[in-house]
Amino acid sequence: MKILIFTLALFAIISCTDKKSEDQSRLCTELYSDDLQWSPIQPKGAVVKKSLWPHSVHFPLRITVKFLNGTEFQKNKVREYAKLWTQASASGVEYKFHEKNKINFRFIPYDVTTSGNVADIRILFREGGSSSYIGIDCKSIPQDKPTMFFGWINENESEESIKQVVLHEFGHALGFIHEHQHPGANIPWNKEKVYEYYKNTQSPPWSKEMVDNNIFYRYSVNTTNYSNYDPKSIMHYSIPSFLTLDGYSTPWNSDLSPVDKSFIKQIYPYHPCFVNETCCYDKNGKPILCH
Ligand SMILES: [Zn+2]
Repeated sequence: MKILIFTLALFAIISCTDKKSEDQSRLCTELYSDDLQWSPIQPKGAVVKKSLWPHSVHFPLRITVKFLNGTEFQKNKVREYAKLWTQASASGVEYKFHEKNKINFRFIPYDVTTSGNVADIRILFREGGSSSYIGIDCKSIPQDKPTMFFGWINENESEESIKQVVLHEFGHALGFIHEHQHPGANIPWNKEKVYEYYKNTQSPPWSKEMVDNNIFYRYSVNTTNYSNYDPKSIMHYSIPSFLTLDGYSTPWNSDLSPVDKSFIKQIYPYHPCFVNETCCYDKNGKPILCH
C-alpha cells in the first residue's frame, strides 16, 4: 500500500524548474498525501484552502523543520532562502515581546534516537527532482518520511537556481500550488506541442495524462484562495513561447514577486499584540484576546 501511495504521489506532480535548466529536464514535483490523492477532477488553486496551516491572526505561526540528511552547505542554503518567506510574512506593526514575523520556520536537530523530535517539514537531499507536499498535508506523512525533497542544491549550482528552488518548495509547504494552474490563468496552450515537449524533455517521459494533470488542469475557485494571476510568481514556471498558440511566454522567476509577498500576508494575516500571562492587548492597551 505504501508503495502504491508513494507511486501515486510521485505521479501526482506539477512541474517546476530552475532557471538553469531551461530545457525543463529537472523538475520539482508537487506531492499529495494519501488522504488528498490527486485525481484529474480534483479542484486546485493558488493556495488550497484546506491545506493552509491553522493559525491565529494574533500570534506567529511556527512551523518546525528538520533535515534528514545534507551537507552544511545544503542546509545553510535552505535556511537562508526559506527566511525570505518569513520576512515577507512580517507584520507592519511591531509589538514589544512579540515576534515580528508571522511565519517562523524553526529548524530543529535531527536525531534518530529521539522519538519526540518531531517536525512538520522533513527535508531530504537526493539526486533527482525536487518536490514538496502541500501545506498541512505534511502532517499526514509519517515522521520518518520526508515531506520535501531537493534534487539540485550543491556547490556547482548557481545561486539563483538554488534560491528559486528553495523559495518554490517552501511556497508549496505553505500551501501554494503552481501559478500556471491558477483559477485565473488562461494560457493559450498549443496542446499538441506541450504533450510532445514534456514527453521529450522529461525522464521518464511524461504521459499525456501527466501533462493534463500537471499543466492543463486548473484549480477551482471554490476550494482555493487566490490573488490575481501572477506570471511573476515564484510558483509559476517558465513557459516557452513555442508552447502557446499566440507566442505567450513567461520567464524564469527566481525571487518572490510583489504579489507573492502581499499574498502570503493575505493568507496568513498577522495582527500581533502585546502579550502577558492572560491576555494579548492592542497598542492602546485594549485586550484583544484573553485566556
Ligand atoms: Zn513545484
